[in-house]
Amino acid sequence: MTSITETITEGKGKRLYATENPDEAVVYYKDEAIAFHGLKRGRIIGKGEINNRICEYLFTLLKQQGVPNHFLRRLDERSSLVKRVDIIPVVVKVRNIVAGSLARRTGYAAGTHLRNTVIEYCLKDSELDDPLVNLTHITAMGLATADEIGLMEQVAVRVNGILTEVLREISIELIDFKLEFGRFHGEVLLSDEISPDTCRFWDASTHEPLDIDRFRLDLGDVADAYQDVLHRLTGYVYKNTEEET
Ligand code: 5GP
Repeated sequence: MTSITETITEGKGKRLYATENPDEAVVYYKDEAIAFHGLKRGRIIGKGEINNRICEYLFTLLKQQGVPNHFLRRLDERSSLVKRVDIIPVVVKVRNIVAGSLARRTGYAAGTHLRNTVIEYCLKDSELDDPLVNLTHITAMGLATADEIGLMEQVAVRVNGILTEVLREISIELIDFKLEFGRFHGEVLLSDEISPDTCRFWDASTHEPLDIDRFRLDLGDVADAYQDVLHRLTGYVYKNTEEET
């Protein structure tokens, strides 16, 4: 039995609760979607439940493949029990194909295949839109040690390899994604979330986005895309019990 004591943080897609066990937390996945610094807000029906199940599936798979992470178990439709880590304030972005901010920053066309995997580090600060930083910034500002960054990069490359393969089998291209890590009793653990909220997934045949870009760019059928990713990954069919508003 897990008893929630207080809210630790609330972000764009999740709420994190403390529990009576100081080493554990409960993550609650919301349907709310926010983009462009809060200028665009909406609700993707079923997103919370779908992301909870996708995270359960992917974190379990990564653990089986030797990638230590914060996930413990799914508790119910929208929440999971995780290790209560101390989040490292560096977002790690991994890119296989040009999209999003890389396209905007460099002028390279979205969809361009990169000759090698690109790893970017950003300061985790949503007020500043997570600005890019380099390794010397990270160590100079005391955000993480060189050893921690080395480990985060190794894990990011490994996660990219595992996810790319798993998604290829279900005809999804992994364009890019962001990861967050946390400290837990001297270990660095992969944390946060891996879902269509944090990754760019394109259908391999149509190259249509199956992720939060459908919401960001007003492409329509947002909830259907999330359901499709969950179904292709796990075989689970999400059933909406609510009326669309
Ligand atoms: P970009 O830098 O191109 O905007 O994003 C790269 C990848 O990181 C994309 O898969 C994008 O969805 C994810 N990402 C970037 N910033 C955020 C963020 O603030 N929240 C979430 N959930 N994902 C993000």
